[in-house]
Amino acid sequence: MGKCIYCGEKAGFFKKKHQECELKFNEGQLSYVNLIKSSILSEGNLSNLADNLLQIRQASFLNDEHHHNLVTIAFDQSVAQLLEDGLTIAEEEKITRFCDLMQLGQDSLDKNGSYQKLGMAAILREITEGRIPQLNIRTDSPLPFLFQKSETLIWVFAQVEYYEQRTRTEYQGASHGVSLKVTKGMYYRASAFKGKPVQISEMKYIGTGILALTTKHVYFGSPEKKVKIPFNKLISIEPYEDGIGLHKDGVSAKHQVFRNIDGWFTQNAITNLNQG
Ligand SMILES: [Zn+2]
Repeated sequence: MGKCIYCGEKAGFFKKKHQECELKFNEGQLSYVNLIKSSILSEGNLSNLADNLLQIRQASFLNDEHHHNLVTIAFDQSVAQLLEDGLTIAEEEKITRFCDLMQLGQDSLDKNGSYQKLGMAAILREITEGRIPQLNIRTDSPLPFLFQKSETLIWVFAQVEYYEQRTRTEYQGASHGVSLKVTKGMYYRASAFKGKPVQISEMKYIGTGILALTTKHVYFGSPEKKVKIPFNKLISIEPYEDGIGLHKDGVSAKHQVFRNIDGWFTQNAITNLNQG
């Protein structure tokens, strides 16, 4: 006689589970995620959340591992939704309370990059509201750039791949995607960047290094190449999920692409920091 993998009771010959137990298990997972999402995204507070989740866990045979995975799924989906129209202070505070309540470490909440995205969203809120974010950015080694006194470091990306267009004519024939004008006061939704990877087939790989984003420039440094691009020289930006393409003013300017950075964050930051 087999035992049910959910409730542990007899399940019958050659059977490993009761159908009604499996149903409870599946429905429980769904309502677990939905309850967390609605608690984060709605106006209400989080006071009953832990108790309500415990009830679902007990009624649906969910263990600690299920709990961790479901919280991560719900957290990721909630963050994705919050980033569609920018993160307000109230939303940020609520997320912080939720993280405290769940007692999940940054590692599990950042499994799919959601925790980092929240940090980026908070920086973008400062920038779009005209403030300079006061950050304490620490890097493993000193950055190989000489920043101006009048600029502030916003973000550092490591392991960034730098590409240049091979020739102007070649690139024009192979243009992909949409170019966005560099205009202040715009907020580009995170979902607009999904599923748009950098097209590198027509580009020449130059090197891999560090990209620093300040309030005035994009800096890139690798053993092969150092690059400094003022925002006010940009005429358009191509947004990708994993990078950006930059078009500078001037006939001889080469199209430049940086890959392995967050396109949504970089696009929004440059667009709203640009004074030109
Ligand atoms: Zn059962």
